[in-house]
Amino acid sequence: MRNRLLTIGCLLVALSAIVGIAGFGLAAQVDVKWKIHDTSRPRSPIITAGTASTQEKSGQPPSDAIVLFDGHDLSKWQTPKGEPAKWKVENGYFEVVPKTGDMATKQAFGDCQLHVEWAAPDPPKGEDQDRGNSGVYLMGLYEVQVLDSFNNSTYADGQAAAVYGQYPPLVNAARPPGQWQTYDVIFHGPRFDKDGKVLRPARVTVLHNGVLVQDNVELTGPTAHKARPPYQAHPDKLPLLLQDHSHPVRFRNIWIRELSGGGQ
Ligand code: MG
Repeated sequence: MRNRLLTIGCLLVALSAIVGIAGFGLAAQVDVKWKIHDTSRPRSPIITAGTASTQEKSGQPPSDAIVLFDGHDLSKWQTPKGEPAKWKVENGYFEVVPKTGDMATKQAFGDCQLHVEWAAPDPPKGEDQDRGNSGVYLMGLYEVQVLDSFNNSTYADGQAAAVYGQYPPLVNAARPPGQWQTYDVIFHGPRFDKDGKVLRPARVTVLHNGVLVQDNVELTGPTAHKARPPYQAHPDKLPLLLQDHSHPVRFRNIWIRELSGGGQ
């Protein structure tokens, strides 16, 4: 009995030592080189905040954003093969021209804050997945679904603002077709080691029309239809892609802010 108690005692001591080391590790991790209220610490950069859009009028991006579409031209976009963009621009928005293919940014992005506005065709046509379908593919691989989800039933992980095939949105915050809707996305891409092993999976937060619908969810891998393929190693930055799903969905006021320190 005494021996058993001693053994348990030893185990407890060992356990507390491990917890202590782990705790120290954690503390070391969150430690920073600045003292509290350190006056030599660099101040945050000053930017001019953007303005919100209305149904009638596009808002203004924050001053430090990369503007991907300002209502005038598709100069920041091309087909995934590098050909000139084939979608049409009119009245401050651009519209998917069905069957012309997806459209990708010329510039590659990784960890980012992304703002996209879109509107589903009005009057609505079709149902389920065949109604106002497009998609915002982060890094060209990870889709936040665009769909007319207003009075339109489909599978949960395929509705608007779903991480397609993985996570339904927390709520359905869809507006009626023809009305402008917003996505605000915070994305941290995956990281891989030199052998292609996943060091960290991708994570995404999405606000749909200002409502939190994806709360820092961990992606299982790239988007696919009726499949959940595993991650495949890729660079830290890849073009953003918008999907041609054969529906004339409109987009406007698209801007992105690259996040530094995303490797942490
Ligand atoms: Mg889609």
